[in-house]
Amino acid sequence: LNRRLAEFGTTIFAEMSALALSTGSINLGQGFPDTDGPEEVREAAVRALREGHGNQYPPGPGVPELRTAIAAHQQRRYGLSYDPDAEVLVTAGATEAIAAALLALLEPGDEVVALEPYYDSYAASIAMAGGTRVPVTLRPDAGAFRLDLDELRAAVTPRTRLLLINTPHNPTGTVLTRAELTAVAELAVERDLLVVTDEVYEHLVYDGAEHIPLATLPGMRERTVTIGSAGKTFSFTGWKVGWVTSTPELVTAVRSAKQFLTYVASGPFQYAVAEALALPDAYFETFRRDMQTKRDILAAGLTEAGFEVYDTTGTYFITTDIRPLGETDGFAFCRSLPERAGVVAIPNAVFYDHREAGAPFVRFAFCKRAEVLKEAAERLRQLS
Ligand code: PMP
Ligand code: GLN
Repeated sequence: LNRRLAEFGTTIFAEMSALALSTGSINLGQGFPDTDGPEEVREAAVRALREGHGNQYPPGPGVPELRTAIAAHQQRRYGLSYDPDAEVLVTAGATEAIAAALLALLEPGDEVVALEPYYDSYAASIAMAGGTRVPVTLRPDAGAFRLDLDELRAAVTPRTRLLLINTPHNPTGTVLTRAELTAVAELAVERDLLVVTDEVYEHLVYDGAEHIPLATLPGMRERTVTIGSAGKTFSFTGWKVGWVTSTPELVTAVRSAKQFLTYVASGPFQYAVAEALALPDAYFETFRRDMQTKRDILAAGLTEAGFEVYDTTGTYFITTDIRPLGETDGFAFCRSLPERAGVVAIPNAVFYDHREAGAPFVRFAFCKRAEVLKEAAERLRQLS
C-alpha cells in the first residue's frame, strides 16, 4: 500500500458491520436503512432490467431521463436551474462524486478545508488526489455541534484550493444555518475558492430546520459542485446512484476524472431513480417525518441509558458523549459494546485528524425500524 493510503487501513464501516454480523449485534453503526425504499421504485428498476434499459453501458454523463429528473428536482425544491446536458453528471454514488471532484480539481499540495469530524472518504479522497486536508473542528455548543466561523476563516491560506462542506452533517447531525452558510459563501467569494458541498442528507431535516443548498447563495452557483445521492433519499444504498450539479466547466472537469474511475455504473437503477425523483412531495415529507420519529425513539433511549445526546436536526445519525457513563475512549467503547450490550456503534474519532478532540464521541444510526431501535435502547440501558 502506498504512502498516500497507508494511514487509512480498513474503513470503520466494514470493520463494525463485520463485528455486528459475527456477534449477532444490532447494527447502529454503518448508516443504511433496514427497510428498502418505495415499492414502485423497485418495480421501476425491475421494469428497466426486463425491458433492457441500462443493461449495457449507459451514456458517460448518465441516462438523459435521470439527468433531466435531477435538474427538475433542483429547480422544484430550490429554484436552482441546471442544464441536464451540460450541468448534471450521474456518478456511482456520492462517494465517487466526491473522489472525482477532488481528483479533478486539486493540484498536488493544494489545501482542502473540511469540517471535522468528516465522513471518512473525504480524507482518503483528498489524499488520493495529492491534496492536504485542513480540518476545522465543529464543537459542542448549547447541545449541538457548531462551526466556529473565525476558525474557518483562519484555516484558509494562499494554498487553499477548495472548501469541502457537508450539510446536513454526518456524523454530528448538525444542519448549517443560513448565517453559517452565508459566512462560508462570503469567504469563498472573497478568497476565490471552489466549494464542494455534500448534501446527500438534503431531505432529512427535522424540527422545522431548513436545508439550504450552498449553490443558492450569492456568488456561489458558479463556484460550487453540489453532490446528492439516491442511496440516502430513497433508501437504496446498494444501488450506488449519485450525482453532481455545477457549471459546465466544473461538471466537465469532474467527468474527466469520473470516466477513468468507473466510466459508468448502475444502468437500470438510473432509470428507476429518475422515476423516484419525480415522486410527489408527500413521499419526501413522509420519509422525513418517519425518520424524525425514529430519531426521537433513539434519542430518548440513549438519554435514558445515560449518554449525553447532542441535538440531531439532520441526517440519520445521533452523536453522543460517553463520558457520563464513566467512559472516555470511544474506540475501546465501540469495540467492547457488541460483547457488553449486543449493539454496534461508530467511534467518531475515526472522523478526526485531532483524534483526542473526537475521543469521547460515539455515533448511532437511527435509520432502523422502531422495534429495533427500542430493543437497542433496552440493551444499552443494561450497560451501567
Ligand atoms: N457523504 C456522506 C456524508 C455520507 O454519509 C455518505 C454515505 N454514508 C456518502 C457521502 C456516500 O454516499 P453513497 O452511498 O451515495 O456513495
Ligand atoms: N455513509 C454511511 C455512514 O456514514 C456508510 C457508508 C459506507 O459504508 N461507506 O455510515
